[in-house]
Amino acid sequence: MRKKIIAGNWKMNNGPKEAVAFANSIKDSINGADADVVFCVPFVSLIPVMEALQGTDIAVGAQNMHFEDSGAYTGEISGKMLAEMGVPYVIIGHSERRQYFNETNETVNLKAKKALACGLKPIVCIGETLSEREQGITVDLLRLQTRIAMLDISKEDAQKVVVAYEPIWAIGTGKVATNEQAEEACKAVRQVLSEIYDQATADAIRIQYGGSVSKDSAKGLFAMPNIDGGLVGGASLKSDFEVIARA
Ligand code: PEP
Repeated sequence: MRKKIIAGNWKMNNGPKEAVAFANSIKDSINGADADVVFCVPFVSLIPVMEALQGTDIAVGAQNMHFEDSGAYTGEISGKMLAEMGVPYVIIGHSERRQYFNETNETVNLKAKKALACGLKPIVCIGETLSEREQGITVDLLRLQTRIAMLDISKEDAQKVVVAYEPIWAIGTGKVATNEQAEEACKAVRQVLSEIYDQATADAIRIQYGGSVSKDSAKGLFAMPNIDGGLVGGASLKSDFEVIARA
């Protein structure tokens, strides 16, 4: 039985002060939810939020990392550094990073492998554009993105990966996928995972849906058999996130 995982992607919002104030305002009502709950916060807010969340079962995550441990990569943060800070999760390959920072399937794979080597759990994002959906290539694309992301990742490590299916047309647009569209895509991802590994491994990997999840849509989406929770952007910055975490 897979435990659901609900992650809030705060994006470039909430510096240390605001982050702590917000975390303090919602932590008590989220603590003890049946799902694993993760706040993916800006790098500079990681330590203050970790301190604010002490004594709760809410975890923090970073939103990106570099695939090298150290070196001449000005402005970057490595997985090794995140691990040293005690950060358990990291989002890898969010569509905004693919779109604005030239991340590719190949860098997603490098980062996912490095995250695992550092003891972090990667939340690996995949998903199609509207035009890819309209061309009928969604499943082919998700299969390819998943295959490349998981290259050279062992069966044991694969089970620590969380895959976030995030249709790009649904991110930040208010246009949520239907329960059936989201389930079909997540089922296809589980199918390719079973081909790469085996059915037991595929059944152990958590697959989230992300894209305009709201307090109204969360329950229906998370009730689908292949959807193991959500990656939530906009609604994770509001008290709505309490309702979503409990959905
Ligand atoms: C996201 O940023 O991963 C996301 C799903 O955003 P939103 O919920 O705002 O669509």
